[in-house]
Amino acid sequence: MAKKIVSDLNVKGKKVLIRVDFNVPMKDGVITDDTRIRAALPTIEYVINHGGKAIVFSHLGRVKEEADLAKNDLTVVAKRLEELIKKPVHFVNATKGKALEDAAANLGEGEILMFQNTRYEDLDGKKESKNDPELGKYWASLGDVFVNDAFGTAHRAAASNVGIAANVSETAAGFLLEKEIRYIGGAVDEPVRPYIAILGGAKVSDKIGVIEALCEKADKILIGGAMMFTFLKALGKNIGASKCEEDKLDLAKELLAKAGSKLVLPVDAVCAKEFADVPGVVKSVDALEADDMGLDIGPKTLELFASVLAGAKTVVWNGPMGVFEMKNYAAGTIGVCELLANLKGANTIIGGGDSAAAAESLGYADKMSHISTGGGASLEYLEGKVLPGIACVDEL
Ligand code: ADP
Ligand code: MG
Repeated sequence: MAKKIVSDLNVKGKKVLIRVDFNVPMKDGVITDDTRIRAALPTIEYVINHGGKAIVFSHLGRVKEEADLAKNDLTVVAKRLEELIKKPVHFVNATKGKALEDAAANLGEGEILMFQNTRYEDLDGKKESKNDPELGKYWASLGDVFVNDAFGTAHRAAASNVGIAANVSETAAGFLLEKEIRYIGGAVDEPVRPYIAILGGAKVSDKIGVIEALCEKADKILIGGAMMFTFLKALGKNIGASKCEEDKLDLAKELLAKAGSKLVLPVDAVCAKEFADVPGVVKSVDALEADDMGLDIGPKTLELFASVLAGAKTVVWNGPMGVFEMKNYAAGTIGVCELLANLKGANTIIGGGDSAAAAESLGYADKMSHISTGGGASLEYLEGKVLPGIACVDEL
């Protein structure tokens, strides 16, 4: 079943509520990366270019106490949106009230209104994050139709996604959300095979659900990152001083038994004696000494991964292969980026969070079919869970 997208709506003359993800990184009140604002432009532009009246809103950070309000003020984000979209953005510094209601009611075709951080409403009993029904109804009353384009929060039911959707006549996905559904949803529902998953990152415990789901669905699962050592130790290997989740060893054994030959573990690692950006030594995973800390996958592992990936048609990757933030331990992550970039005719999908940041900072972002805009959301989606922020979008 296909979901309705913004271009399926007749937006002419309508007030279109657009939930975007403007949760941008900020330092001392300055936006350090505006990728998320740029990413939302196609949806907003579609609406205004087709005679719609755009009412744009987002969360920013977490609001638990009074002091969090100023830190998470969207005023600067509205200014940046104005620069990027080259149109005036009328910003209302409120999440409720007469000023907002009047601004919405008086909005002209092709105009843009943005209101304050939806999580300002969390100060009053977490109304936004706990999907207070009155709040969703109120926001819905400001517009005619709803477009959800925020994937990063799609795994949580909030007033600003499902709460609004429950109270409008039509809900569609924005172009960003549509791409997440097409790629990640596609891999979950009907992956073109061979379907290979690559998992790494810090902890097995963060990704248990995904590993379990992929054991069923993927043809092979390649493991790297710190989590490889929990698996290697479960196999009885000496992992030296490498990171390991002792309390997950039994689980790792179960997963190894369940996955059988589907699970592919590294054969070598780049090791150091301290956690610092100094040149490491490549060792077989059978040769680690007590004080060796494995900080990246080694070259033989990359060769092994290359042979498994050859001919893959769907590849999903979540979690860096090593401590890519240090140049001495970035080779494994760069190597996997290269392998994916050179795969012909494959859908290459990178889950959000640090893996997406790695692909971007290493310069491979435009070589992938899809880089997800959500970390936690992409993991839950890959797990096969129903995401409330997607479920609330109308079917076509
Ligand atoms: P993602 O956000 O992509 O899901 P994670 O948050 O699970 O990824 O993990 C990313 C972190 O894992 C990175 O900061 C990286 O430095 C760290 N990491 C990867 N491999 C290792 C390793 N061998 N030892 C210690 N930390 C590692
Ligand atoms: Mg992370």
